[in-house]
Amino acid sequence: MPTTQPTLFVSHGAPTLVMDPVPTRSFLRGLGSALPRPRVILCVSAHWDTTAPRLGSALRPQTMYDFYGFPDELYAMTYPAPGDPALAERAAQLLDAAQIPAALDEGRGLDHGAWVPLSLMHPQADIPVVQLSIQSHLSPRHHLELGQALAPLRAEGVLIMASGNATHNLREVFSHDIVEPPVPYAKAFADWLTARVESGAAADTAALLDYLAQGPYGSKNHPSPDHYLPLLVALGAGLGPEGTAAGRILHDGYTYGVLSMAAYAWS
Ligand code: ZN
Repeated sequence: MPTTQPTLFVSHGAPTLVMDPVPTRSFLRGLGSALPRPRVILCVSAHWDTTAPRLGSALRPQTMYDFYGFPDELYAMTYPAPGDPALAERAAQLLDAAQIPAALDEGRGLDHGAWVPLSLMHPQADIPVVQLSIQSHLSPRHHLELGQALAPLRAEGVLIMASGNATHNLREVFSHDIVEPPVPYAKAFADWLTARVESGAAADTAALLDYLAQGPYGSKNHPSPDHYLPLLVALGAGLGPEGTAAGRILHDGYTYGVLSMAAYAWS
């Protein structure tokens, strides 16, 4: 029997995280071996945003360079992990059964939200990866429900890994140095987020869905929802029968003062 997997949220920061000498890079390099080894990774990334859920079903997903103006070295990197079309099919069936129609996408590669953290966590690229898209025009609750529908995969050895950012005000990134103390508005939101995740009470799950109103400086930290919504998929897949979730913080760091690089696990 495969080991039942936790669910995971990681903050991926800038694509250069893969080479930047920052604590989050060191954390991710140790994370793969700190968690039970999954059979497959189902990665929901902030960088794949579609009208309805799609699952990457390529046998050999290509490494995508979905960013501009970064060092050449980054465009030379590849992450040749195999795909797992059978898992993509199984996940689509689970979503369909939950009345969330999903489609397979054979042409989809791995975007940097997936391959940047994975190339640090599992540099051998020997664990198959399937990507799932977000739907940023749909509600936070939709993303929680995506996770809930996919939760049975955990007992099948599938790591549901969400990749976004705990705070993500990109407009302010380049007015800061990469290593800098956190700005107060980002720290306020990230601390609020961590407290809600670690409480795990049903009321805190409700607060996480209402993050723009209840989270300190919600819309300043997340001017668009794309980097927050993946967290709700991991949370949904980690919910227990009473709607409670035992979450824990794995890493608490910042880049550029405004990007909380927090990572969480549930189970
Ligand atoms: Zn990103």
